[in-house]
Amino acid sequence: IKRIVVKVGSSTITRENGLNLRKIDQLAMVLSDIKNKGIDVVLVSSGAVSAGASKLKMKTRPSLMREKQAAASVGQCELMFIYDKFFSQYGQTISQLLITKTITANETPRVNVINTMETLLQYGVIPIVNENDSIAFDEIAYGDNDTLSAITAYLVHADLLVILSDIDGLYDKNPSKYDDAKLIPVVDGINSHILSMAEDASSNVGTGGMITKLHAAQYASEHNIPMIIANGKQPSILYDILEDNYKGTLFD
Ligand code: ADP
Repeated sequence: IKRIVVKVGSSTITRENGLNLRKIDQLAMVLSDIKNKGIDVVLVSSGAVSAGASKLKMKTRPSLMREKQAAASVGQCELMFIYDKFFSQYGQTISQLLITKTITANETPRVNVINTMETLLQYGVIPIVNENDSIAFDEIAYGDNDTLSAITAYLVHADLLVILSDIDGLYDKNPSKYDDAKLIPVVDGINSHILSMAEDASSNVGTGGMITKLHAAQYASEHNIPMIIANGKQPSILYDILEDNYKGTLFD
């Protein structure tokens, strides 16, 4: 593996009262290590709305779109400040890329993003991608960056996309409802049977749930990029993934 895209959901890097600093620190360390092994790393990170809402002392998760977008504007700053702090500590240079669907769907801006990304990677930077939530609201409303991470993996021709979630992978039914749900280690192609396993139910902080991850897997597989869903509880799982000895779901 030469180039990897890693997506972290809000549930991995935030807690009730804002950012989970310990988790972000661990994530930055592991990604820095991987980068130092000579692997290009792109991080797709959610968490801006949640961080901003907490900083603005909005009561819970804001429900009004304009409040979410205002929270994203505040939270994106904080998020990048913290990432920069930790990644700098581990000797890395990061950058921010805020993307919208309009950008990736249109030729000229898409080529610009690709060129920027390639140049950053040539310079040894770890680009951190998020949706421009204060401007667009495709994913803020539904998706939590799962689709964006698949598009990003395609734009940079990644060898692997890893989605870190609050769950070990895809189960045959929603494990938060059914005790006997079983983890599926490998999925060969998404079909209606697989899609039916994912319920819309998502955690309190995440917004996508499993279904948007399956849509991401579908997009990735159409572009021949393998994708893994694994638990972000311990970011060191990324080492295990690179050694091909991990718990999770591989979409091949
Ligand atoms: P993230 O914030 O990491 O993107 P989400 O909370 O949006 O995570 O999505 C993961 C959640 O999807 C799980 O915690 C679980 O409650 C729910 N879910 C629904 N169906 C399934 C399934 N078949 N397998 C695994 N998780 C499922």
